[in-house]
Formats: sequence, structure tokens, C-alpha cells
Amino acid sequence: MPNPALYDMNLADLEALLRDWGQPAFRARQIYRQLYVNLVHDPALMTDLPSRLRERLATETTFDALRRVRTQEADGGTTRKAIFALPDGAVIETVLMIYPDRATVCVSTQAGCAMGCVFCATGKRGLLRNLSTGEMVEQVLWASRELRHWQDAGSGLQDADDRRDDGTRWWADAPIPVRQISRVSNIVFMGMGEPLANYDRWWAAVQRLHDPQGFNMGARSMTVSTVGLADGIRRLAHEGLPINLAISLHAPDDALRSALVPINEHFPLADLLAATREYTALTGRRVSFEYVLLQGRNDHPHQALALAKLLRGHTAEGADRGVPLLCHVNLIPWNPVPGSPLGRSEHLRVAAFQQVLLDYGVACTVRVERGGEIAAACGQLAGGHAA
Ligand code: SAH
Ligand code: SF4
Repeated sequence: MPNPALYDMNLADLEALLRDWGQPAFRARQIYRQLYVNLVHDPALMTDLPSRLRERLATETTFDALRRVRTQEADGGTTRKAIFALPDGAVIETVLMIYPDRATVCVSTQAGCAMGCVFCATGKRGLLRNLSTGEMVEQVLWASRELRHWQDAGSGLQDADDRRDDGTRWWADAPIPVRQISRVSNIVFMGMGEPLANYDRWWAAVQRLHDPQGFNMGARSMTVSTVGLADGIRRLAHEGLPINLAISLHAPDDALRSALVPINEHFPLADLLAATREYTALTGRRVSFEYVLLQGRNDHPHQALALAKLLRGHTAEGADRGVPLLCHVNLIPWNPVPGSPLGRSEHLRVAAFQQVLLDYGVACTVRVERGGEIAAACGQLAGGHAA
């Protein structure tokens, strides 16, 4: 029997383990605090525990399941990608993005992905396996420690290579002094994999990270991105924890969407949008639609108009009696994937697409990318097996 993985346990599990070991319940809470508040991952450093208990933890449980193979930096050190090897040799990636007023970690939920979207590096490799809850939680704890080290090393943004193209410094209009970002402030489940295809483990990770007795991440500071698994969206609508939902749409009609996102065959647009409407009706929350722009494929103005009509609830015949979806569109210029014949939409086409949506009354922004040169941007996380 392998040792139980500590990061796979919630507080109740930890209390049960400690009870088995004949320890009082408060010891479990001490350990939980060390793990999720103090971010300690070495039992030897849990100095508030008796040394016998520390030894037992070291020999009879597993702390880190993720072995860091490499860390890569970009954007003057403010984008940091970790490559982790899992015990079975699969490889996943986690990205920490540090901004003047916040720090966001992008978490992988699967090693690889089964969905096979044609524009995505992760999808090209297929699914190796689901990540465990602990493996997702550990990525966030790594990012938290990484942020702390980065701050302690004095590598505040003022020292970074931080000039915009026009020579101004991008942190200059920061609302608070940069060094005050003391913790990871946002978690996005947008790394490798499809979170809703690993629903139970992923949701347990959300709950763990949210737990006010532990890591205490606000629900509104967490975002999940899904390829559009309508059944998972319906399930999420009933969870009662208001995390943000982003849905990868990428096309305004079924023919094109099925060509780009094969799972559309199982959850066609009508089903997906019905599930989304159920979600907004039940939660009162606005969803984001992500739309990767591929030159000449899905970025024509008539496609922008079709998208706008779809989201405003209008029919092709032009009736304006539809009920608009409570939503926002996030346009993502495609990040190149080696060997792909697809192309990234030119700036002017992106702007024109956005304008059509705005003119039609659909809120729409263009995502500012990070980490392109270290393949840390959306859809560039490829992973694979450790060498
Ligand atoms: N599987 C989930 C979450 C991971 S992908 C999903 O598909 O939503 C996170 C986001 O990156 C998705 O919106 C996805 O469509 C987008 N993406 C994938 N490949 C991309 C690429 N090469 N360039 C830009 N965005 C990409
Ligand atoms: Fe999987 Fe998302 Fe990539 Fe599609 S875009 S292959 S769902 S990770």
C-alpha cells in the first residue's frame, strides 16, 4: 500500500487519520494550517508538532506528489511556468502570472486532454489521465510559495524588464504598491485538460482551496473554463459556490464548431446554450464565452454578427424579441502551436470582430496574453512524458 497523499485529504480525512494514530483532533487542525495557511510542505518544519508525530508524517504519508522538473520565466520574471512530473511519469504544467495588483495561477486538471480541439497543443496528445484532487491543489500551493520566494528575493516589478512598446512602464498605473501582493489572488482552471471531464476531483479541489479554515480562496476569485460539457454546466449551476464560469465557444454555428471542437457533436450549440441559460437563471451570474480567433476560419465579420445574434437570443430571421444571455465575450488571438496549419488572426481582424459584437450590444474584450515565448500561453501547454 502506498502512503496516503496528504494533499488528497480534506480536514475530515486528516482528522480520521490522526484519530487512527491515537492523536487528539487539534493536531489535525494544526497540520491543516501548516499545509494551507503557512504553506509548509516538509514535516520537519512543522515545529508546533511533537517530533514523533513529525517523523510519522514523514515516513507514513506523502507530501508532494508533483516533482518539479523545470521552471521557466518570461515577462521579466512575472510569468513563471513550472513543469511537473507525476509519479507515473506524466507531465503537467502550471503557470503563475504576477500583475501589479494581483497574482493568478493557471492550473491543469488533467494530464493531456481527450477533447481534441484542433487548435490546442494539449488536445493533440490525447488524455493520459485525470489529475487527483491533491495534484491540483499542489499546483496552487507551488504558485503561492513561488510568489513568496519571488517577493522575498526582492524581484518586485520595479526591477523587471517591464517596458511597454511605447516605453512606459506597465505597472505605473498600479492601484496599489506592487510589493503588497502577498498571496495568490486568483485561480483559473484553464491549464491542461478539461475540468468538467474530471468533475468530482476538480470540485473537491475547488472546495479545498475555498475552505476558510485553510487556503481560504474566495469563490469569486476562482474561474473554471470548459469546452462546453452541458451536463457539467448544469451540475455546476446547483453547487451553490459562486465561482466564475468561462465557456469555450469558438464558433457561431454547429458545422464550424464541430470542425474545431469535436465534442460539439455530443453537446451541440442548442444544448450548450440551453445549459448556459439554466446556469445564468439559477445563479444570476454572468458567464464568459471564450472565442479563439483563427485567421480566415472563424474571424469573419459575418461570423461575428452570427455570434452576436446567437448571444442576444435573436434568430437568423432577425426577430429582436430574443432574451439576451447574461454574458461577456473574451476574444483570444490564437497562440501558435508548432506544426499547426492554422493562423493567428491579424490585429485589424480582431478589432473588427470585436467592433461587430460591441455594436450589437454584446460586451466583449480581447485577452492580453502572457508567456508566449515560454509556451505558457493559453493552449500551448503540451506536457507529455518526462524524459
Ligand atoms: N479545456 C478547457 C480549459 C483549458 S483550455 C477549455 O477548453 O475551455 C483554456 C482556454 O485556452 C480555452 O478557451 C481554449 O479554447 C483556449 N485555447 C486552446 N488552445 C489555444 C491556443 N492555441 N491559443 C489560444 N487559446 C487557446
Ligand atoms: Fe482540451 Fe480545452 Fe485543449 Fe480543447 S481547448 S483540447 S478541451 S484543453
